[in-house]
Amino acid sequence: MQVCCARVEEPAVETTIRPVPTDAAPSLTLMDRCDSCGAQAFFRATMPSGTQLLFCGHHGNAHRPALVAAGAALHDETDRLTIARESGFG
Ligand SMILES: [Zn+2]
Repeated sequence: MQVCCARVEEPAVETTIRPVPTDAAPSLTLMDRCDSCGAQAFFRATMPSGTQLLFCGHHGNAHRPALVAAGAALHDETDRLTIARESGFG
């Protein structure tokens, strides 16, 4: 009886890898909502005046050029959307 040493394929374990934001600002949560449509916010813009605007991935990308032009500091967590999408089709 021979010992089977075939490679063991490890199942795709669901991991909750969260990218660490590059800035010191706190992460966006489920409580943060897009100022435009009310969806979960993945994008935060801090205006030079200190005003913070929250956007979903769609509106964040849509307003990004204008926000950058206005000198806003951007906090982008839209990559979390991509990760969530990819893990669904692992
Ligand atoms: Zn939105």
